[in-house]
Amino acid sequence: MPGSIHCRPDGGDHGEWIKLGWAFNAEQITEPVREPELNPYFPEVVLRAASRLQPKLAHYLGALPLDRVHYGGYYPMTRENWPLIGAAKTPSVFLATALSGYGTMGARATGDLCARAVVGAPVPVFARSLSLARYDDKALMGQLAASESRGSL
Ligand SMILES: Cc1cc2nc3c(=O)[nH]c(=O)nc-3n(C[C@H](O)[C@H](O)[C@H](O)COP(=O)(O)OP(=O)(O)OC[C@H]3O[C@@H](n4cnc5c(N)ncnc54)[C@H](O)[C@@H]3O)c2cc1C
Repeated sequence: MPGSIHCRPDGGDHGEWIKLGWAFNAEQITEPVREPELNPYFPEVVLRAASRLQPKLAHYLGALPLDRVHYGGYYPMTRENWPLIGAAKTPSVFLATALSGYGTMGARATGDLCARAVVGAPVPVFARSLSLARYDDKALMGQLAASESRGSL
């Protein structure tokens, strides 16, 4: 079974829900549309996979709760699956984008890096690799292109 199946509690401190997710179509690149069509088998597929990881979930196979919520969306990403944060080519325009499947986790660091770019504050060394400037670093881009995994979540 490939990795990247998400299983976690949801609903805050006293939540009784679990959230499952799996971007198993990770390498299928599509043009975005406003209302993407969701795969009706997705909840069943994810539940089956997640129950390999956490066997007690198998209890829900064929008995998915009727009030479950099923949502999906896009992972906007660059080819190398690294974000773009910092100055755009157009003066006074800044990017905080291509956050793929990790944009919630990376939101605060992204905001911090982007705000530093806006006001011209010092940035950590790695900021360059997360900005448009990385495309000038042929060694880094070659290394990323040669990686076996893009690290899709
Ligand atoms: C199913 C799914 C599950 C995910 N789970 C996780 C997770 O568990 N952890 C995690 O870290 N990340 C997760 N992510 C990724 C995370 O949601 C994104 O990386 C993050 O939301 C990106 O933030 P953003 O502000 O760049 O873009 P968005 O959140 O997409 O915000 C862009 C906003 O711009 C608006 N907009 C677009 N076009 C226009 C326009 N022309 N005019 C005005 N407004 C416009 C959109 O309506 C939207 O509100 C998940 C993504 C998906 C799809």
